[in-house]
Amino acid sequence: MSRERQPGLFEIEPEPEPWELAESSEFLAAQVVFNRPMDTVYHYLVPESLRELIEPGQRVRVPFGRGNTSTLGYCVGLTTDISTRKRLKTILEVVDRVPLLSQQMLGLTEWIGKRYLSSWGQVLESVVPAGVKKQAGTREVVFYQIAEGIDDLEKLKLPKKQRVVMSILDSAEAPMRVDVLSEAADCGTSPINSLKKKKLIVPERRRARVTEIDDIEVEQQADLILNREQQTALDEILKTVRAAQHETILLHGVTGSGKTEVYIQAIREVVSYGQQAIVLVPEISLTPQTIRRFRARFENVAVLHSHLSDADRHWHWQQIAEGDVQVIVGARSAIFAPTPHLGLIIIDEEHETTFKQHSTPRYHAREVARERARSESIPLILGTATPSLESLVRTIDGHDKRIVLKNRVEQRPLPPVSVVDVRNDPMIMRRHSLGRAMTNAMQQALKTGGQVILFLNLRGFSPVLWCPKCTGIRCPDCDITLTWHKDRSLLLCHSCEFSMEAPERCPTCGQPGMRFLGAGTQRLEAEVKSKFPDSSIVRMDSDSMRKPGSHDKALTAFREGEIDILLGTQMIAKGLDFPNVTLVGVIDADTLLHQPDLRASERTFQLIAQVAGRTGRGEKGGRVLVQTMNPDEPIIQFAAQHDYDNFARYELKHRKAMKAPPYRSMARVILRSLDEKIVEAESKRIVKIIREDIQEKSLDVRVLGPAPAPLTRLRKYYRFHFQMTSDEIETIQSVWKDVVSQLKVSSTVELTIDVDPVDLR
Ligand code: ADP
Ligand code: ZN
Repeated sequence: MSRERQPGLFEIEPEPEPWELAESSEFLAAQVVFNRPMDTVYHYLVPESLRELIEPGQRVRVPFGRGNTSTLGYCVGLTTDISTRKRLKTILEVVDRVPLLSQQMLGLTEWIGKRYLSSWGQVLESVVPAGVKKQAGTREVVFYQIAEGIDDLEKLKLPKKQRVVMSILDSAEAPMRVDVLSEAADCGTSPINSLKKKKLIVPERRRARVTEIDDIEVEQQADLILNREQQTALDEILKTVRAAQHETILLHGVTGSGKTEVYIQAIREVVSYGQQAIVLVPEISLTPQTIRRFRARFENVAVLHSHLSDADRHWHWQQIAEGDVQVIVGARSAIFAPTPHLGLIIIDEEHETTFKQHSTPRYHAREVARERARSESIPLILGTATPSLESLVRTIDGHDKRIVLKNRVEQRPLPPVSVVDVRNDPMIMRRHSLGRAMTNAMQQALKTGGQVILFLNLRGFSPVLWCPKCTGIRCPDCDITLTWHKDRSLLLCHSCEFSMEAPERCPTCGQPGMRFLGAGTQRLEAEVKSKFPDSSIVRMDSDSMRKPGSHDKALTAFREGEIDILLGTQMIAKGLDFPNVTLVGVIDADTLLHQPDLRASERTFQLIAQVAGRTGRGEKGGRVLVQTMNPDEPIIQFAAQHDYDNFARYELKHRKAMKAPPYRSMARVILRSLDEKIVEAESKRIVKIIREDIQEKSLDVRVLGPAPAPLTRLRKYYRFHFQMTSDEIETIQSVWKDVVSQLKVSSTVELTIDVDPVDLR
C-alpha cells in the first residue's frame, strides 16, 4: 500500500471539513505483522519523527498486547486510510535503516503464509537470514571527510602530518574509514583528532564490513557446443526467456544428458540482459564439482549453503541485493535471494524432497519458485531424470511444458541394470550383504581397473538388536528400533539423541542371546573390507561425513582414483559424475519399497534410477546390479529398464484409484503431547469439529483419521495425526481457517499443519 491517499476513499464519505482534511493528510499508519501464529495485520500510528525513516520491509518496535510489551514486528505496508485511525498505538522505533525485503518479496512471503497456513510474520522471520537481521560481520565505523566550505588547503598552515591527512581526504572520492585514512597518511590518530577538533574534517558513523571474504578466483571456461537435443531444449527455453513471460518448463533428461550445460547457456542469455538467475540444488549436490562448474562460466557466482557463517550470509545478501551477483547457486532457501532483476529460476533435481522445509513455514521451494517466477514474469525450469509425479501431471494437464532429453551426451548408452534375485543366494542366506553375483561383479570391475559404488540406504551397523524371545530394542522416547553403531559401540536412536550400550540380556524379558539383524552401511563396510582386503574403501554417510569438508575430500580422492570402492547412503546417489565407475550395486531395494509411505514406490524408482546414473559415464561403460527379494515387483522392473514413462503410468493409475496426490491436495495435521490420553482426545475432538464444518457446508474434503502417527512417539512426545484431502487446496485452506480459531486446543498439546506433506511419518 502506498502513502498516497487511496482513491475512492472520500467518494463514499461525506465531504470532510477543511480542518479535518489538513489533519488527515498528516495521518500515517503502518501495517505490522508479528512472528506469532496469528493472521492479523495490526495498525500502528507512525509518529512525525519516524515518517521519513519508515518503509515497508523494515522491522519496527511497537507496544503489543495488554501489557504493551515492546515487541519486534515487520512493517508490511503504510496507509493513510483514515478508517484505521481509531485509538492506534504508536510505533516506538524503526529498527532497520533499509528495508530487509522488497515489495515483491513482501508479496511472496504473504503468499507463502496463505498457501502453507502459517502467519505472514512467521514466514518473514524465517525468510530473512539471522545474519542479515543482526548485520553480522559489520560494525559501526567512523568515516571522515573534509568539512564543507574548506577549499583552499594551502591557506590553512597546518603541521605536516595534518596536511598529509587533508590532502589525502581532498583527493578521495568518498569519505574514508578512519583506519584506512591513518594508514594512508602513515600517522596515528592524533593528527586526525586535531583536525576534527579544528572542525576541518567531519566524522560520520556508518556500518561497514569488518570481516574479510575470500574471493575465489576460478579460471573461466568457454561454453560447450551443445548437441542437437540440448540445442532444441535450449531454443525452447530461450523462446520463453525472450517472451518475458512466465512459463514452467520441465526439463526431463536422463542422467548424463547434459542438463547442466543447458541451464548454463540459458543463464548466459539472462545475464547478457543484466539480469540474475537463481539455481536451486539439493544441499547434498552443493559439492565443489557443481560449484566449480558455475564459477568457471560466470564471473560473479554466489553459493548459499547451510554452512555459511552469519557474516558471510549477510555479505552475500548485500552483494545480491546490489545486483553484483549474476548467478546464485544454493539450497532451498536461496529462492529468497534478494535479486533486483531476476531473469530465470532453475531447480535441479526437482524431485528431491529436501526442497520441502520441515519446520514452520513448511513451504516447498518448487512451489515458492513457481509463484515467484509467475509474479516476476520469468521462466522456471525444473530439471530432473525422474520427475516428481506432481510436476509430471502438470505437464500432462497442459499447465507446464515438458522437454525431454532422451540420450546421454556423446551417444553414451545408459548402463544395463540387472535385477538379482537374492532369495536363494547362499551368501544372503548366511546374512551377508553381498550376494554371489554382486561379489563376482565387484571382483570383475576392480580387476579391470574400474571403480565401484555401493548403495545402502541405512546407516549404522545393524538396524535391529533382536531378542529371540520377544522384539527388538526400541528408543524409550521414540517409537523406533535402535540401530547398533559398532564404531561407537552404542545403540543409537536415529530420531533423537538417545543412546545406550548394547545389553547382554534383553531389557524386556531378561533372556540372553541377543542378536544383531539386518545391515547398515557400517556392517557393509566391514564385510567389504574383509572380502576385498586389497582395495581402498570409503564409507559415506552422515556419521562418517560429520566434519565440514569431509564429503568433498572423499569425493576428490574418489575422482583421483585413490579410492576403489565408495559405499554409502543416498549421499552418493546424487549428481556425481565419475567416468571410471564401472559398477553400481544397490544392496537392498526392498527396504526402500516397503516404507509405509504413499511415495515409497516413487522414491524407490527415483533412487535406483539416480544411483544407476552414476555409472557408464566414461569410455569403459558400466553396469548396475540391484539385489532384491521381490524381483517381479513392477517398480523394480521399470527402474531396471530405465522406463520412466511406464513407471509413471503405472504409479499414477494407483494414485488416482487411491484418491491420493498428485490428484488430490493434502494437508496433514500433527498433534503432539507428553500425555497420550490428552493428545488422543484432542485429536478426536478437533476432527469432529472439522467433519461437522465440512458437512454443514457440504464441502469436498475427506478427513482420514485421527490415528497414531506412524512414528507414534518422538522425543518423549506422543503423536497423533489426521489428513485432509480435496481436489482443491483452497477448500482445505478455507476449512482450516474457519475452524482453527474456535478449536481452543489444550495448552498441553502442540499442533502443526503441513500442507502438501512429503513426509508422512
Ligand atoms: P546431467 O546433469 O543431465 O546428469 P551433466 O550436465 O552432468 O548431465 O553432463 C554430463 C557430462 O557431459 C558432464 O561431464 C558434461 O561436462 C558433459 N557434457 C554436457 N554437454 C556436453 C556437450 N554438449 N558436449 C560434450 N560434453 C558435454
Ligand atoms: Zn529416540
